[in-house]
Amino acid sequence: MINIPKGTKDVLPQDSYKWHFVEKTVREVARTFCANEIRTPSFEHTELFLRGVGDTTDIVNKEMYTFEDKGGRSITLKPEGTAGVARAFIENSLYGNTQPTKMYYITPVFRYEKPQAGRLREHHQFGIEYYGATSPSADVEVMMLAKAIFDKFGVGNLVLNINSIGCPVCRKEYNSALKSYLGSRLNDMCPTCRERFEKNPLRILDCKEEGCKAITKEAPSVLDYLCDECKAHHESVCKQLNTLGVNYVVNPHIVRGLDYYTRTVFEFISSNIGAQGTVCAGGRYNNLVEQVGGKPCPAVGFGMGIERLLLVLESLGLSVGEEYKADVYFAPVCDKAREITPALALKLRSQGIAVDYDIMDRGFKPQIKYANKTGVRYMVILGEDEIAKGVAGVKDMQSGEQVEVETDKLCDYLISKVKG
Ligand code: ATP
Ligand code: MG
Repeated sequence: MINIPKGTKDVLPQDSYKWHFVEKTVREVARTFCANEIRTPSFEHTELFLRGVGDTTDIVNKEMYTFEDKGGRSITLKPEGTAGVARAFIENSLYGNTQPTKMYYITPVFRYEKPQAGRLREHHQFGIEYYGATSPSADVEVMMLAKAIFDKFGVGNLVLNINSIGCPVCRKEYNSALKSYLGSRLNDMCPTCRERFEKNPLRILDCKEEGCKAITKEAPSVLDYLCDECKAHHESVCKQLNTLGVNYVVNPHIVRGLDYYTRTVFEFISSNIGAQGTVCAGGRYNNLVEQVGGKPCPAVGFGMGIERLLLVLESLGLSVGEEYKADVYFAPVCDKAREITPALALKLRSQGIAVDYDIMDRGFKPQIKYANKTGVRYMVILGEDEIAKGVAGVKDMQSGEQVEVETDKLCDYLISKVKG
């Protein structure tokens, strides 16, 4: 037998309703914020991610699915959603549109990771991208969009953690302060952090290893090193969140794994789903567009892991939508009934009604069993007696009540029943 690749998952027909529910909800919320969908390819030239995500990150160093195509080009499966959007923004000259450009995406994301609960090799993200706005109010709006989604699902236990990692100028000073603090403690840190020390010391603050966490607990805070502009930006974000009455914590350990962030970074963290508790992560990346070859353009956004969101909803016992069931199930008993059923079904289906009938050549009893098991709403019984009388038996499967309806009025009757 050929197995599914490690770290990937099938969404089975009995579970896909959950995905539809989540996707529909996030699209609806995005629409209320006037963000439109952008779709970019599942693969890009590797160069885009090298430049956009950065070669000091875990993603670029260890996690990318990179291959050479038959034309000898280096191609990489999307390891995150933002770089492709930046490329599309530049390539299609979206600068020319009235700004801001508010976009969202729903995309598969590929990362060669060590699979565990909430950590897959192919996962899916809903993401938001706001281009063109430098104002802290844009940062706050994208956070509020994420929060609106959690509120809509009824998730109350996520904590918004925010931080500012400054701009390349003030971060430089902070990095050297951090390195002089960490320098004497290198031997007690995990091998990955020892590597990060030279290339990306900020990322050490985010390490999940207990030893590293103990060391970074007392590390200097990036917030003490912000330049005046970055400080004012951060204070404005906090002030607006206060005005909105949003609960948040300022957490100087939030740094994000990607190089492209400037100033605001944030995460919504759950304590319900184990170690991989970050459901949504984002921030501002004012230098990304320029870094991948465009004219400078400020940007802010986030990525939300859909698998992790579903884990949160299910762990809290919240609604994940409703299973799909037939509105109407035909149970034809005789040959004549089997003959007329498909046309009746088509007529109802053309009116948007979900109709099912036996295509397994089952006898009457197994058809009833099927209807009960799959939870259909109305069952239509067509036997020899009914056909002879020109009627059909319609059973309301919830109340158990059964009525006779004339065959030529059957469709209208069922439509009015189902549609209310
Ligand atoms: P982590 O620290 O957990 O590795 P990350 O910093 O790599 O996360 P981002 O690149 O910011 O995560 O991705 C945004 C969101 O996508 C995460 O907050 C998480 O919900 C989800 N996510 C990231 N990687 C995975 C994965 N391998 N499997 C499932 N979901 C993921
Ligand atoms: Mg990661």
